Amino acid sequence: MEDILIRNGLITTHNRQYKSDILISGGKIKNIGEKLIPEDKNIRMVDASGHIILPGGVDPHVHMSLPTGNGRSSDDFESGSIAALSGGTTTIIDFVTPERGESLHSALSKRKKEAENSLCDYSLHMSITSIGPETEKEMFEMVKNEGITSFKLYMAYKSSVGMDDKDILKAMDMVKRAGGISMIHCENGDVEDFLNEKMVNSGKTGIGNYTGSRPPEIEIDAVNRAILFSGITKCPLYIVHLTTEQGVESILKAKKRGLHVFAETCPHYLTLDDSVYEKGEKGAKYIMSPPLRKIHDIQRLWDGLNDGTLEVISTDHCPFNSKGDDYSGPDDFSSIPKGVGGVDHRMSLIYSKGVNEKRISIHRFVNLVSTRPAKIFGLYPQKGIITKGSDADLVVWDPEKSSKITAKTQFQNCDSSVYENFKITGAPSIVIAGGKVVFEKGNFDLTRAKGNYIYRKR
Ligand SMILES: [Zn+2]
Repeated sequence: MEDILIRNGLITTHNRQYKSDILISGGKIKNIGEKLIPEDKNIRMVDASGHIILPGGVDPHVHMSLPTGNGRSSDDFESGSIAALSGGTTTIIDFVTPERGESLHSALSKRKKEAENSLCDYSLHMSITSIGPETEKEMFEMVKNEGITSFKLYMAYKSSVGMDDKDILKAMDMVKRAGGISMIHCENGDVEDFLNEKMVNSGKTGIGNYTGSRPPEIEIDAVNRAILFSGITKCPLYIVHLTTEQGVESILKAKKRGLHVFAETCPHYLTLDDSVYEKGEKGAKYIMSPPLRKIHDIQRLWDGLNDGTLEVISTDHCPFNSKGDDYSGPDDFSSIPKGVGGVDHRMSLIYSKGVNEKRISIHRFVNLVSTRPAKIFGLYPQKGIITKGSDADLVVWDPEKSSKITAKTQFQNCDSSVYENFKITGAPSIVIAGGKVVFEKGNFDLTRAKGNYIYRKR
């Protein structure tokens, strides 16, 4: 494996910014210092003058090749990981979703097969969709032997993967004993089912009615219940894709009470509002759950990211082609698979809308897209930091590079983008993953990229 010496870059972490050289060898950061002299003449030199060096991004919430009633999400692990790398994300965490009653081990081995062709490092969260006699034992084995320390629970989707409150409490109690963390999809599934049925029965399924089937109150109710359950079971809680102002307030209160409650939001909830659903069938590509919200929610989410109430920005990357076989629209939310892409644009979007527009500092940015997710999910300090001995996952970031997002030029496998024509400034110039330059000035060297399954710690 070739050695690399990065010179003249401005190293930027969650709490420091300083000029230094970085020596990479054997896939790891071997040394950091001023004016490092290469021992080997064949070393690859990278001049990073005028650039920022960031730790590789960690996106802890993606769904590659996700099976749904309307077909699989359009990125598999190969295309999705290429998209991730193109945007500076060098580690992704996806999910294992066992059928009800299926053993966690058998679901894991199937999902690992699908994930094998990932070109960036990856790990998996385990979903718990039912409680059986073996569940607790298997959870302990996941934590101990498989490096899976996080368990996803759904308050929504009760007819498929969701569970009722009592089973969610039981699962959290087990997760606590196993030394893991619970991740909860917070929407009140019964209310959502009721509203959805009512709208379908009365033929009110136009895109413009979508938010009515998943109003903010069903998230707020579920967030409060999840926090209550976390307090009762003492199980650490990570709330996925938070969207509402009141949700942020509830998390702030929980943190003040000393509860171990963490939360993420996603770029789409920070950059788009629910007025897009008024576009009729043209709003179809914005169908996601939870739906987009109001301007005041967006404002509170940014404030929450800035003051530390929200600690992670993930993408919930789950694109679907809008004109392909998966689509049976047009103006009918009930028949459209729910999800949007973004793994390739997460870092540029947040840098543009967050750092450039002065909503968050550059250190907060690094924390949100890399360091905090690495810490919360047991990847730190292997990932999420630039320090001696860490994996050499680095982004040589060009803070001046301006471009426009379009579906035509994106790396994710999808024929549309919710960010079409968004202008962004700040993008990777070079991406180094596992100690190898895999992406440089818009071009991939895929022969060099190879993702490994990462065992996580408690
Ligand atoms: Zn998700």
